[in-house]
Amino acid sequence: MNIDQTVAAAIAALNLGDHFSFDALTQAIEHQRGRKIQVSELPELGDNEGLCAVLFYAADRDLILHAHSDSRLHTQQFILHEFAHIILGHCDDDGISHDLSDIDGLLPDIPASIRSRALARSDLATEQEVAAESLADVLAARIRGSAFADTSYTEIFG
Ligand SMILES: [Zn+2]
Repeated sequence: MNIDQTVAAAIAALNLGDHFSFDALTQAIEHQRGRKIQVSELPELGDNEGLCAVLFYAADRDLILHAHSDSRLHTQQFILHEFAHIILGHCDDDGISHDLSDIDGLLPDIPASIRSRALARSDLATEQEVAAESLADVLAARIRGSAFADTSYTEIFG
C-alpha cells in the first residue's frame, strides 16, 4: 500500500464518519486498542530542537508527552501525529526506535525498556513519519471541518 491508501484505510477503520470531535477520536482509538491514552504536557520537550511530542507504549496505557505551545492547534497537531502512530500500529513491533538520548534526563520515571520503544517526532524523513504526518493532517481536517486550511501548520513544518 502506498501512503495515501494506508491513510485512507486507517481513517475508514476508525468508522467515525467525515467529521468528528477530538474526544470522539480519542475514544475510538482507546476502544480499538482496548486501553487508555494519556496525554500530558512536558514543557521541557520544547527545549529540545525539533522535538514536539513523544509516544510511549507503557504496560497499561499509551502515553503521549507533548511540548508546550501557545497555539491550541499546534498542540493538537502534535498529539494527532502521535495518535497517527498508534492508529497505524507503528512501534507495535520493535522495528523502530529513535535516539532519545537528548531527552533521557527528562524522563526519569520511565524505564529504559519503554523509553527505547518511544517514537519521537523529531525526524520526518522515514516513511512511517510521513504516513503519520499525512494521517494527522487528515484527522485535523475532519476535526476542524471542511474549512481546514493547511497554511496553519506550514509555519512549524515549513
Ligand atoms: Zn512521528
